[in-house]
Amino acid sequence: MEHPENSPEYEGLTVNSGVGPVSIVNPYLKRGRFARHQLTAGDYVEGILRGNVSILGQAVTLVESTNPSHQSIAQEVIEKCLPYSGNSVRVGISGVPGAGKSTSIDEFGIHVLKEYGGRLAVLAIDPSSERSKGSILGDKTRMEKLSVHPDSFIRPSPSAGSLGGVARKTRETIVLCEAAGFDKIFVETVGVGQSETACHSMVDFFLLIQLAGTGDELQGIKRGIMEMADGIVINKCDGNNVDKCQLAATQFRNALQLFPMPDSGWQPKVLTYSGFYALGIKEIWDMIYEYIDYVKKNGYFEYRRAEQSKYWMYESINEQLRNNFYQNPTIADMLLAAEKSVLEGRRSSFIAAKQLLDSYFALLH
Ligand code: GDP
Repeated sequence: MEHPENSPEYEGLTVNSGVGPVSIVNPYLKRGRFARHQLTAGDYVEGILRGNVSILGQAVTLVESTNPSHQSIAQEVIEKCLPYSGNSVRVGISGVPGAGKSTSIDEFGIHVLKEYGGRLAVLAIDPSSERSKGSILGDKTRMEKLSVHPDSFIRPSPSAGSLGGVARKTRETIVLCEAAGFDKIFVETVGVGQSETACHSMVDFFLLIQLAGTGDELQGIKRGIMEMADGIVINKCDGNNVDKCQLAATQFRNALQLFPMPDSGWQPKVLTYSGFYALGIKEIWDMIYEYIDYVKKNGYFEYRRAEQSKYWMYESINEQLRNNFYQNPTIADMLLAAEKSVLEGRRSSFIAAKQLLDSYFALLH
């Protein structure tokens, strides 16, 4: 371009043509060279069976995805990994926030890897994560030692969907982890009721972490949750808290005596420990492995896993039926109107539900 400054009028000044703006993209880069190659179900399975943690992580992301195309690959991967799964010890670890779950899991994990070898996956079920848009359970930053251990895999709770959906994804992740050679699985959950039932339905041993020193120890802990526990451990048994912990342990033991003997034939034990000072950790794991030996001998181990598979089949049917109903666009429109009429008292809840279901079944034909 001719610059006006180059005219004779501006004697002594010349302006050269400049260069155009530089592209922010390297023009010599071959397109797609660094783009992530879309793996096939076969690639995922092969990577998982090789124990490749990066591929395992990507496969878990697919399991958690709500995208239907991801889901179909995920289901194929799970199906192919199933024959290689099952060979592990699955332990559920539950406790209210502040009970010391992350501190304890860090110590438990280091202990089992040191004493028993193998590989450990830490997964989580956190129903609150849907609301908080991000899980606090299973967070790597809370488990400082384990997160840098070469034989551990830590995965936060899947965050999307109902509790049933979140829990199902965690259960599917167990299959993938086992196929990748993880022979110890911890499933962490917060002690608020429903999520414990879900956790209990996918583990071999359910460990309940409790605290002492809150007055009446048994208050606020639901009978159902205590009945689920295969072992109760009282944390923070250190410093001037030791006596209180021992007293709490006695109270728990007495309370457990009143429950009928569990189907496993195993009388749940109550132990005290300190996750922070790593005291009493060995005793807890001796107890868990003693239980595993016991139920493997009496057949309950296999029985419990078979019952769990049955439970998850029904859970899966229920979840898919529910999703199919609520995601149907015609039903979604009708729901709003029905909800309004119920709120305004123009229709009873039962009639409204029946009409919606009748319309749904009619749509299926
Ligand atoms: P979470 O919410 O159940 O995961 O609990 P955290 O592991 O985050 O622990 C909650 C708090 O209790 C933290 O401040 C820990 O340092 C403390 N804590 C955990 N375990 C112990 C223990 O064995 N003894 C004592 N004194 N404090 C502990």
